[in-house]
Amino acid sequence: MNLAEIIDGKGFAAHLRAAIAAEVADLPYKPGLAVVLVGDDPASKVYVANKARQTVEVGMASFEHRLAADTTQEHVLALVRALNEDPKVHGILVQLPLPKPLNADAIIAAISPEKDVDGLTVVNAGRLAVGLPGLVPCTPLGCLLLLENKLPDMTGLNAVVIGRSNLVGKPIAQLLLQKNCTVTMAHSRTRDLPALCRTADILIAAVGRPETVKGDWIKPGAAVIDVGINRVPAEGGKTTLLGDVAYREAAEVAGLITPVPGGVGPMTIACLLRNTLTAAKRLQETK
Ligand code: NAP
Repeated sequence: MNLAEIIDGKGFAAHLRAAIAAEVADLPYKPGLAVVLVGDDPASKVYVANKARQTVEVGMASFEHRLAADTTQEHVLALVRALNEDPKVHGILVQLPLPKPLNADAIIAAISPEKDVDGLTVVNAGRLAVGLPGLVPCTPLGCLLLLENKLPDMTGLNAVVIGRSNLVGKPIAQLLLQKNCTVTMAHSRTRDLPALCRTADILIAAVGRPETVKGDWIKPGAAVIDVGINRVPAEGGKTTLLGDVAYREAAEVAGLITPVPGGVGPMTIACLLRNTLTAAKRLQETK
């Protein structure tokens, strides 16, 4: 039996995009997002195409830069520097992963922090850590918006974040700390993860392993946010998407839960657009 309220990330993201489009329509200028794609990774191509389509749909300008897999580090860096200087570009996203032997850290570091709409530069990570305004990574921001909508006051709640990546786990933990949660970060070396998870009023799974979190790991009534996107083989040679949470059994115990697909996933691009709007407004103010 499904007891948990299902958090409709798809619907929430659609509302967010509509609000962004309304705000963009009122601006005297057009915010612009530049996406850099190096190589032919099929999943990355799909992500970039979706980003470009949704960027245009909210009334922003989309600048796509597709580079061959053998593009040199110097060439990518020169492009990023040119985009930093381009007044039509307010947000820059370099699609990861980058093909070898490109050095992603050095390329991300070259992005102007004011245009770093993925929130991946050390400057934006530091701003988040010390509580200064910056640009927050899109997926963690999406998780927070979904949670805030259902739990406007998270003060004193126990939050457990499984995963400590710079892209997801660490920024989510920082955001929940800012909301006055008591945050514990778990990872592959954590002892007795099931027992730790049972203490969580808010449980965030960003593990990258299908259905890691079982129903009996969940505190009754907890809010469960499943960040995982795992493509696994299904019948007939097809593939299916699974989250990091065993959804059916978890939904019998949790109070709130995000599905996969249709939960956190759609929020990521919506938050990328939100970050681009934020960056554009700040850049315009400091002109
Ligand atoms: P990642 O960089 O691979 O990090 C995974 C984290 O999980 C690591 O901190 C790792 O611990 C921890 N971990 C792995 N196995 C574990 C285990 N058995 N028990 C406890 N912790 C374990 O992955 P990521 O980039 O953060 O992404 C996490 C998931 O989110 C993936 O499924 C990814 O596809 C998905 N994702 C979704 C979106 C979206 O738009 N919805 C965006 C980004 C990512 P160690 O640090 O000890 O290795």
